[in-house]
Amino acid sequence: METANDRIPSHDDLGDIPQRPTRETLFRILSIFAFQWRFLAVGAVTSFAVALLWLAQPLLVSLIIDRAILEGNPQLLIVFTGLMVAVALVVLLLEVLKSYCLALVSERVVRSVRIMLFESLQEQSHRFYVGTSSGTVSSRMWNDTAGVQAAVSVALIELLGTVVLLFSTLVFMLIWNWALTLLCLSVTPLVLGLSVYLGKRNQEIMGKLLVTLESLVAFSFERLSINGFILLNAFGYEKRRDSKRFEDGATELLRLSVWQSLTVQGTRMVLVIFPIIASAIIYLYGGARVIDGELSLGTVTAFIALSAMLTAHVSSLASLNVNVMGSLAPFQRIFAWLDLKPEIEEADDAVALSRFHGHVAFRNVSFEYEAGSPVLRDVSFDVRPGQLLALVGPSGAGKTTVTHLILRFYDPTSGSIEVDGLDLRSVRLSSLREATSMVSQENIVFNTTFRENLLVAKPEASEQEMIAACKAAQLHEHIEGLPSGYDCTVGEFGYRLSGGERQRLAIARAVLKRATILIMDEPSASLDSITERSIREALSPLLEESSAIVIAHRLSTILEADKILVLDDGRIVDAGRHDELVARCELYRRLYQEQFAAQGSERLD
Ligand code: ADP
Repeated sequence: METANDRIPSHDDLGDIPQRPTRETLFRILSIFAFQWRFLAVGAVTSFAVALLWLAQPLLVSLIIDRAILEGNPQLLIVFTGLMVAVALVVLLLEVLKSYCLALVSERVVRSVRIMLFESLQEQSHRFYVGTSSGTVSSRMWNDTAGVQAAVSVALIELLGTVVLLFSTLVFMLIWNWALTLLCLSVTPLVLGLSVYLGKRNQEIMGKLLVTLESLVAFSFERLSINGFILLNAFGYEKRRDSKRFEDGATELLRLSVWQSLTVQGTRMVLVIFPIIASAIIYLYGGARVIDGELSLGTVTAFIALSAMLTAHVSSLASLNVNVMGSLAPFQRIFAWLDLKPEIEEADDAVALSRFHGHVAFRNVSFEYEAGSPVLRDVSFDVRPGQLLALVGPSGAGKTTVTHLILRFYDPTSGSIEVDGLDLRSVRLSSLREATSMVSQENIVFNTTFRENLLVAKPEASEQEMIAACKAAQLHEHIEGLPSGYDCTVGEFGYRLSGGERQRLAIARAVLKRATILIMDEPSASLDSITERSIREALSPLLEESSAIVIAHRLSTILEADKILVLDDGRIVDAGRHDELVARCELYRRLYQEQFAAQGSERLD
């Protein structure tokens, strides 16, 4: 039996994309295209000229038949047929120019949509990235934006030409013979009705197709990654199961793609029939009038050509509508992300500080990730420059959350966090981020060179500064020993490095940056005691001048800490120095026995 685990999940934790009113979406799309007005204008004028030139063809046909052939004038025959070819050649050149403008407009719009999306995603919050897989982000960045490509630019460029031609042909025909014209128009309501129906279907199918594609990309991103490899192989997860899930997703994608293609191509195919129906009607009615001698053969022949043009233009408008409706789906999904308000926003009057002293204070801070589930409750403490604050507590007590709040990944639900007496919400985010460094347990690295990974902390650092930081973190020798030294890559998620090396890389970053607020989630096991001692020496100048908030896992840290906060279930149950807490706090005594005391005996051995 198929379980939920056998299907590819949708990775969009943010829920369904709200269906915006189509008119609003169209208006917004137009405003993006408006920036490309120069190329759009050239394209539209070209398209208009092509349309007018096509109008000359039936006129020439009627002249060839009535003036040249039936009146037996060979010179005129040469002139008119020559003109037919000349007009076609000019049309060809104009079509090339139109295609160039079209390609340019589409590609420029795609580029600007991608840039807008990239910049908007840069502002998104911790919560957004926790809830959205990288495959989902990647799919929307590349697949959805590609989906907006051609249809709308074609529509905009063709619109002017088609509409002008449609009306000019119509007026021309009405003046020439209104009865034949009305007969021609009898098929129009059918064409338009079909277009509206198929346009809606195309929008629907395109939306489903993009959601399926996104889930499939996200799934393959995770499964075909180093984390996926280790997890699946370590547990002997049957590869067949994943293949089946992928295959099912790919089959669904295939089904939707075929439907989408049928809707678009089918529209064109079905529309081919309308000019033929219109011609048949004119042959029937006009032919009878020619037999009766009421109409000339030239007029009926020209009308056949004109009616073919008229219905072709109505059809191309109808087909454009189906295409544009398909493009609305990716646009709606992109707009939904562009409209996401960053959870953490800078106040308009936020102050930029060139330098913080680093006095961090929590004032009655409570916090909930999800409404109704408090994670921190009424937390208050102070850390001054030069002080080391150790956070201890059972797993899930809220230690990491405290560090996230200092970095302003989230704002407190109530209470406030201050740096140098200023509420974090009133400080420029860039100022705050310049003042902080984080050494996390995850040892976050990019799959690039050591150099690039180090310079994230201080892009303008000199080679000497970088090397000095690595020497301090006991990493320089290791890097020097590698074939291309600082230009060696660290592998996906730093998997080419040992846990200790990743940790030292993170420490080297902190040493390089010398931030005023240092946040550390200590490794519980990655460093041997000799390296630990050397690193402690490297960090000590930093600790002297900065405020350090450390999630403590090492005995040396709690012994050295100016203050230890004991957290349990989001509350501070006690605070003080090690000796005081051992004497009076039962939870601390227990944690000390479980987590720290053994390290002391190890060292004594
Ligand atoms: P600690 O670092 O002390 O182990 P955390 O601060 O990581 O604890 O977590 C505290 C509580 O908050 C835990 O119950 C955890 O499940 C929850 N939590 C942590 N991160 C998130 C998140 N991004 N969204 C929702 N809940 C979270």
